Amino acid sequence: MALHGKVALVTGSTSGIGLGIARVLASHGAAIALNGFGDAGEIETLRRKLGDEFGVRVTYDGADLSRVSEVEALVRNTQNEHGGLDILVNNAGIQFTADIADFPAERWDAVIAINLSSVFHAMRVAIPGMKAKGWGRIINIASAHGLTASAQKSAYVAAKHAVVGLTKVAALELANAGVTANAICPGWVLTPLVERQLHDRARSKNTGFDVEKRDLVAEKQPMHEFTTPEQVGALAAFLCSDDARTITGAPLSIDGGWLAH
Ligand code: NAD
Repeated sequence: MALHGKVALVTGSTSGIGLGIARVLASHGAAIALNGFGDAGEIETLRRKLGDEFGVRVTYDGADLSRVSEVEALVRNTQNEHGGLDILVNNAGIQFTADIADFPAERWDAVIAINLSSVFHAMRVAIPGMKAKGWGRIINIASAHGLTASAQKSAYVAAKHAVVGLTKVAALELANAGVTANAICPGWVLTPLVERQLHDRARSKNTGFDVEKRDLVAEKQPMHEFTTPEQVGALAAFLCSDDARTITGAPLSIDGGWLAH
């Protein structure tokens, strides 16, 4: 229970990678603040089960991270409800795919707001409390697309590259404050975000979900295997450990060799 007594806010943790990270941090004893969208009843069941399973306090806040005021309130509410915030995992993200010439301006704004600006605003509000305590962990979920590009993903690739840069700035500013800032860069993880892309591909190519599932991974990753949300969670938990206290400013790939190309 290495994280007993620590409080972790995981944005976008009602599904996918965020939920996997929340589960692993809870299994190490951290109190958890969940955030994200979904059915209210299902989220309440999720909140209760997570707390019961690991014996930790779990709260939920449905803040919409496309709005600056809600990002600020999410961090402040977590600090107030839990008596502080030690671990900030900026995970919430959306995807939209189209060629640049066809990319709707409002989709660009939404991807940048949620995938990039919310990371900045959450760090801006959380950092003073971490510095005051002399301990903190900031973990930004970037992507392989924070280090390399794919066509039709202009907003996502721009946001994720910027998250990697922003993480490095935070690491420099916090280097001697007991606070580390790192970016995790996953390859393919089979979550609702990727399942939507697989259904779109199957529809446009007139193939099937399973064919696209195989081809999608093989196109980018030398290793033809999806990473699981729990594996990303395990890396996040390691970054919270004392052994990882000198790892900062690093983009950490967990991507089946994608970036080895
Ligand atoms: P997902 O769609 O399963 O989960 C996204 C989460 O973000 C959900 O909880 C959703 O409710 C929440 N969310 C979306 N918009 C929000 C908003 N405006 N305010 C608050 N919450 C919001 O997606 P995922 O695949 O688990 O992605 C999580 C993160 O991991 C994203 O940042 C994504 O870019 C990144 N990522 C995913 C993959 C992958 O292959 N799945 C790979 C690399 C990086």
